[in-house]
Amino acid sequence: MEVKFKIRKDDMVEIIAGKDKGKRGNVVRVIRDKGRVIVSGANLVKKAMKKRSQQDQGGIAEIEAPLNISNVMIVCKKCGPTRIGYKIDGEKKIRVCRKCGEAL
Ligand SMILES: [Zn+2]
Repeated sequence: MEVKFKIRKDDMVEIIAGKDKGKRGNVVRVIRDKGRVIVSGANLVKKAMKKRSQQDQGGIAEIEAPLNISNVMIVCKKCGPTRIGYKIDGEKKIRVCRKCGEAL
C-alpha cells in the first residue's frame, strides 16, 4: 500500500492507462483515502452546471475527474515516465528516478 503515496501534489505525471493514456499534467490533488489523484487537464468529464440566477445560462463545464493512482507514473526530466526510488542523503530520504538516479 505504501507504493500509492509516492506521488505528491505538483508532481508531473503521465497517464499510463485509460482514455487519456500518454497525456501529462501536474498533480492537483492526492486523495489518499481513495488512492486517487486529480491531474490538471486530464480525465475531463462534462458536468452540467445548474442555473444559479435568471442571467446564468447554466450549461456544461468540464472538470477533472480523479484517476486511480496506479494509472499514473511520475515523469523524470531526463527519461520520461519512471518509477520512484529512494535514496538516503545524509539524514534525508529523497525521491529519485529508478532509471537514472536523478532527484525527483
Ligand atoms: Zn530518470
